[in-house]
Amino acid sequence: MFIIFGTRGIKHTVSESPVLSNSCPNCNDGNLVNKLYRRWFTLFFIPVIPLDTVDRFYECDRCKSAYNESIKTVLQRSQEEISENQKRATSVYAKALVASMTHMSVVDGNFAPEEEREIMDAIEGFPEMKDELMAIHKNVKVNANKDNQVFDFLNSARSELSSEALINILAQAAVVLLADGAIEKEEETLMKEYLIACGLPKEMYQTLIDKLKQKDMTEIKKEQLN
Ligand SMILES: [Zn+2]
Repeated sequence: MFIIFGTRGIKHTVSESPVLSNSCPNCNDGNLVNKLYRRWFTLFFIPVIPLDTVDRFYECDRCKSAYNESIKTVLQRSQEEISENQKRATSVYAKALVASMTHMSVVDGNFAPEEEREIMDAIEGFPEMKDELMAIHKNVKVNANKDNQVFDFLNSARSELSSEALINILAQAAVVLLADGAIEKEEETLMKEYLIACGLPKEMYQTLIDKLKQKDMTEIKKEQLN
């Protein structure tokens, strides 16, 4: 009788290696699964004895693109870079926000409790930066824009953030401006200076205020409905 034997490469999933979720550089969506090719000794075409590992690689479960194992390090590094950038952007955002809200609330000479509450709410939104933000708040409350500190915060925001994020900061500062009911002339002037510091046209002032007033209106309407 014939004995038919040989070898064959079989692709296996490396189950102990974590799947890299949604990170396929080709389709952006697929999960990269760690695979290996192992050579098997076959008897009558049936793999019976595992031999050496021929190759280890990552394969996308969606588009089937295959990547060298070093893709893992590359992806991890860019993931670290992304989260590092996000952290820095959040920090710049929060500091500019608290500095401009506080500055806005002291510029008319009196510091209303409603204004303080709005600022505390904003600080609560960044629990991991609370101490740092409280320090900025206290400093600006006492020293206002001494040494141009508030505009320095806005300038760093300008170089790191999108204009959408900048408008968000100014809109929240404008909430403070409306919190005591009236917009003083100094507040309006300051808001326009903020716009310029953020590299936005000062004509956006009216757009900001209109937006805020509309928001107030919808909230009032909601309250009436309830
Ligand atoms: Zn893919």
